[in-house]
Amino acid sequence: MAKVNPFEMAQQQLLDCAKILKLDQSVVNVLMQPQRQIQVSIPVKMDDGTTKVFQGFRVQYNNALGPYKGGIRFHPEETIDTVRALSAWMTWKCSVLGLPLGGGKGGVICNPKEMSEGELERLSRGYIRALWKNIGPDTDVPAPDVYTNGQIMAWMMDEYSTIQGKNQFGLLTGKPLVVGGSLGRNDSTARGGMFTLREAAKELKLNLKGAKFAILGFGNAGTYAATLAEEMFGGKVVAVTDSKGGIYDEKGLDIKKVSEHKAKTKSVVGYNKLKKLTNEEVLALPVDVIVAAAPDEGAINEKVAKTIKAKVICELANGPTTPEGDKVLYKNGVHVIPDFLCNAGGVTVSYYEMVQNMYMHYWTIDEVYKKLDEAMTKSYHAVYDASKEYKINMRQAAYVVAVKRVVEAMKVRGWV
Ligand code: GLU
Repeated sequence: MAKVNPFEMAQQQLLDCAKILKLDQSVVNVLMQPQRQIQVSIPVKMDDGTTKVFQGFRVQYNNALGPYKGGIRFHPEETIDTVRALSAWMTWKCSVLGLPLGGGKGGVICNPKEMSEGELERLSRGYIRALWKNIGPDTDVPAPDVYTNGQIMAWMMDEYSTIQGKNQFGLLTGKPLVVGGSLGRNDSTARGGMFTLREAAKELKLNLKGAKFAILGFGNAGTYAATLAEEMFGGKVVAVTDSKGGIYDEKGLDIKKVSEHKAKTKSVVGYNKLKKLTNEEVLALPVDVIVAAAPDEGAINEKVAKTIKAKVICELANGPTTPEGDKVLYKNGVHVIPDFLCNAGGVTVSYYEMVQNMYMHYWTIDEVYKKLDEAMTKSYHAVYDASKEYKINMRQAAYVVAVKRVVEAMKVRGWV
């Protein structure tokens, strides 16, 4: 996990943008800190009869554009700084996509891999009992993130509905279909990212057919991205990694078989007796596209960035590149599709889920994909155009587009 303080990284990125946009200091002061940070203690009865107390967070960064929106992470190394950074990035993510939503994020320090289903359910319900007054369909709408899933969302929604005395499907998104989920939500982060990659390839005149892909982080988003890279473009996935290490086969990997190996052994390492590589070694491979999907904030630092040979980096995870890493990549002409643009497909379909919940009317998968494609394509080009107009890198450009919109909302609301 974090080798750098992710919130300091997020603040540095924002200051960089403030300079480009020549923002007033008073505006910057408001944008530099979350509006509200809540920390709760959640007592949970464990299976062995003891009671364990877990620390939970919800950070509500900015709601100038609409209700706070963002996932909840269950992670053993969760920190308030990570949640703070992620809540800031959610604010920019919703804004760059033009969604009527603000940014927030939640987290619980726990290791779901070591908990039983019953313990996880009690923790999920406890999180809601501790925070229900601060969240709600038009206040703050959570969603899944690292190590949380549709089942956890269903328990949380059920707990909230019980407290409210009525069904409240709109409390959060990423729910199972049968309780108000949206079609297309599962692979939406990866699919959205691949739409931006398709647009980037057009601008860069890069042929994705037969292009070599390295996927960093063969988890949920990473696995979908690998499959879509083949399906949508005829690309060739030559390397994948997970928390235990990476594998490389220049002839291309069979994604289905690698997934099966991972399901059996809990890692991609060892597949087909391939040599185990470190993340750094995988990042330095001769590939065309790197999909950075591992929850490893700051992994692409200055030193690592210098070794990258790929033409495009799709940041499907949040915060994979440090500001120093960014400078090197820009200088070397590596096209970065920055995290809060590249991985915005998830929250975009979450927004569609909110709309469908409100209307109690559900869309077909084709409608969801079509709307997602239009939204991602439009946002990619808005950012690309800003990068040309201001002569800045893609991350700075994404900030420019996103921050401008939040500032405009704060101004008309009379906050600054
Ligand atoms: N956790 C996802 C993200 O970081 C989705 C958030 C949401 O759907 O609210 O973008």
